[in-house]
Amino acid sequence: MNSLNKEEINLPIRLAIVLPCFNENESIELTASELTSLITEMTHEGVLKKNSFILFVDDGSTDKTWPIIVRLHRDSHAIKGLKLSRNFGHQAALLAGLNAVTNECDAAISLDADLQQDPSAIKKFLCEFRKGSDIVLGVRNDRKTDGWLKKQTASGFYMLMKTMGVNIIPDHADYRLLSKRALEALSLFPEPNNFLRATCLLLGYRKSTVNFDVRERKIGQSKYTVSKMIRLALHGITSFSIVPLRIVTLIGFLIFFGSMFMLLYALWKVLFFGDTVPGWASTIAPIYFIGGIQLICLGVVSEYIGQIYTTVKNRPRWICEDKLD
Ligand code: UDP
Ligand code: MG
Repeated sequence: MNSLNKEEINLPIRLAIVLPCFNENESIELTASELTSLITEMTHEGVLKKNSFILFVDDGSTDKTWPIIVRLHRDSHAIKGLKLSRNFGHQAALLAGLNAVTNECDAAISLDADLQQDPSAIKKFLCEFRKGSDIVLGVRNDRKTDGWLKKQTASGFYMLMKTMGVNIIPDHADYRLLSKRALEALSLFPEPNNFLRATCLLLGYRKSTVNFDVRERKIGQSKYTVSKMIRLALHGITSFSIVPLRIVTLIGFLIFFGSMFMLLYALWKVLFFGDTVPGWASTIAPIYFIGGIQLICLGVVSEYIGQIYTTVKNRPRWICEDKLD
């Protein structure tokens, strides 16, 4: 049983839908109308309470996103807004939104503002919630709508995460439901570079998954640049796995033993045969080889030092500039 008790299980719940948005002025109006109709429909079906709502988190957009949210809020009490003071990134914006709704709902569902993730799956999420799940994870059916690069990087990423021992569900992004108590548990994780799809699996509680379709982005372009994707992957690995550090140590040992072996071999040659041929390649090649490996290892260690550095500074993970309740 999740946050709902036995008497509440068949009663309507108050749902919050959280949507981070960055320069989404072209898509949010359509998103708002599609989600508002869904909420109204589920309110009539007795699934949701009338005061269920949608929260748009403006992640420092430079276009008309915020003025549109203000207008949508003026027209409908079901639409709320949160404006961050600058672009903090998708994960931070999502966390800011989830944090803001923790005490305002029985459960929250997060999804992208472009509605690429089919919102009709929300009903299935709520079904799982009613069955007692605190965390419901949306898993996409296929990657037909992704381009070649995204498909390859995604499958490479999941393989890498698995090798690094990070527990994540393949093809689950940030379309998920969290119950009130799961939201409360999430607020106990203060890390600056949160990687929500792995953190949510650390919360405990009962989990289940729901399959959904991904649609083409109707309007606007992807706001996830390649550098943002790489940053997310690096944060995912360095905040959930120390396997890369172990690999560095292992490489160090392997090279050390390898060089010892070479030394003994050279000694043996000199002592017993005296025919060592002075070679240019055999001197220069290992210098480049070891130099390269040392720099890679230094880079890996620096990634972790970077994580410690940002964590120790304890800077705010987001700054709220405006709020529409
Ligand atoms: N987003 C955000 N901050 C950013 C980048 C993206 O809040 O710095 C939001 C964006 O508005 C969207 C969601 O994150 O609601 C997913 O981004 P997008 O649809 O561009 O990514 P893709 O679907 O291409 O992976
Ligand atoms: Mg998208």
